Amino acid sequence: MPKSKSCWAVLYINLLGVFRLRLCLYNIRKMMKFCLISVLAFAVSTTAMPKSWSCVSYPFPFYTKSEWGGREATGVTRLTTPVPFVVIHHTYIPGICLTVDRCMRDMRAMQDHHQLTNKWQDIGYSFAVGGEGSVFEGRGWQAVGAHAVGYNTNSIGIVLIGDFVSNLPPARQLETVKQLIQVGVDLGYIRSDYRLIGHRQATATECPGQALFTEISTWDHFDSTV
Ligand SMILES: [Zn+2]
Repeated sequence: MPKSKSCWAVLYINLLGVFRLRLCLYNIRKMMKFCLISVLAFAVSTTAMPKSWSCVSYPFPFYTKSEWGGREATGVTRLTTPVPFVVIHHTYIPGICLTVDRCMRDMRAMQDHHQLTNKWQDIGYSFAVGGEGSVFEGRGWQAVGAHAVGYNTNSIGIVLIGDFVSNLPPARQLETVKQLIQVGVDLGYIRSDYRLIGHRQATATECPGQALFTEISTWDHFDSTV
């Protein structure tokens, strides 16, 4: 899994810290000041880095917006995190994508529609999950989305690419959605006691498709009371 540049920076700083600490232990009396700085630097590098700098190693293929050829957002409203809700969608159109190339093409088409036709700031969803199990970054963890009226400012919106009215998504796609939610909890962007809902619970829509809705209603954290 490729790591982000910030991740490599953190690793580098940590390695530097370990090296310096070893030097300290080797000759601690002569190097008290050096040691103190080293310990502080190491502590800061491991505990005080911004969340976005954290060393995220996703348990699934992850493609940033630039990697799938998306445009930058024309504006960003910062999301207050951790959010209490996760909202699940299906795209309906486009249908399921089973190769990374096809999913990337679908992401570009959806962003075109949302940004150029609808005049939104960006593709509406926080993340999209392809039928082959990859995650494609949308607005990401820290931006308010445009996917579910009444829930945009307090949720992460995850769309499964495909039409799941009658057919269930492949197991791999479903597994990635569960893993993505867990990553969001682990990173502190989603509350650990989050409530999972389907788009249809927020507004009058068939989304995320009857088959997928029946599936997610069996998942932990699903909230039927919404
Ligand atoms: Zn939806």
